[in-house]
Amino acid sequence: MKRPSIASRLLPWYRQFGRHDLPWRQSRNPYVLYLAEIMLQQTRVETVKPYFRRFLARFPSWQALADAPIDDVLTLWSGLGYYARARNAHSAAQMVVEKFHGEFPRELTQALELPGVGRSTAAAVLASAYGQEQAILDANARRVLFRYHELSGAARSPQNERLLWQLAEQETPSKAHDYNQAIQDLGALLCVARKARCAECPLQGPCAGPGATTSQSRTEKPTRFAYFLLARSDDDRILLERRAHKGIWGGLWALPWYEMPAGEESPELLAGFRNWAEQEYALRLQMQELQPWQRHSFTHFHLDYRVVVARMAGSAVAEARRAASLHAPEQLAQLALPSPLRRLFS
Ligand code: SF4
Repeated sequence: MKRPSIASRLLPWYRQFGRHDLPWRQSRNPYVLYLAEIMLQQTRVETVKPYFRRFLARFPSWQALADAPIDDVLTLWSGLGYYARARNAHSAAQMVVEKFHGEFPRELTQALELPGVGRSTAAAVLASAYGQEQAILDANARRVLFRYHELSGAARSPQNERLLWQLAEQETPSKAHDYNQAIQDLGALLCVARKARCAECPLQGPCAGPGATTSQSRTEKPTRFAYFLLARSDDDRILLERRAHKGIWGGLWALPWYEMPAGEESPELLAGFRNWAEQEYALRLQMQELQPWQRHSFTHFHLDYRVVVARMAGSAVAEARRAASLHAPEQLAQLALPSPLRRLFS
């Protein structure tokens, strides 16, 4: 069925109901727009706002970010999650400064060279900063297009991916900036993943609603299980380990993480954990407390974990092994910590 263009209905709605007061909305500065796009990846707007303000105040330009020690960048990002974004932003700023003379590239192919910048992120910056006719396909735009054009099957299948990009390009008018903001807002405010608010939607009529499609088959995330060791020295310092730069919580400081084979506990398992910790970190432990189970969800799995509180016997310093060191409680606020640990220590 031939449908009217999305823009003709969407833009008047956007002018009236769009989120014009978002802190990055009025800017045309490529650095500001880039930063907002990166922070908003898989993260809610309300969560991003305070981080965005703090980050921009501390690193107001490509140069400031490029010159900063990575530890400072990670510390300021601490709690926002998906830390690869922070490391990529740091590397991207260095590339902009060194390779692109301090300017976000104007060519899409060059923008895609920046670490962590995908097609939709690059297009969003190019459309808003330089007024280019560039279509985006972030999660919100993807959901609206999928439903409006009554696609079926898995939203991320290669076939639908191609089709969605084609539709995104067809629907995007020459003034892409407003349209891109508008479709993001529609996806965030009305065409939400669960319980779309079709009765208020400007696309209702030509769009048959989410029930018309069999979209996004969700697969259950697997669950992993772990103990975290919270070991204190005689002078009350806490053992933390710097995680490898690649992988979960890359580059952050975390408690030693012991992966359990399954969620079933036994005295043997706890003894195995203690042996592991004593050998890996060259220390002697006096176990004190097993805290209740908690859950933290990553993109691809849930982590169910318990914190095991222990005292280090004697004054053994565990810094000899791995990238571990002892930190006084008052130093913790200065460290780049993942959000569950920041909560634990606060
Ligand atoms: S009518 Fe419903 S399903 Fe269609 S775009 Fe609007 S909110 Fe989404």
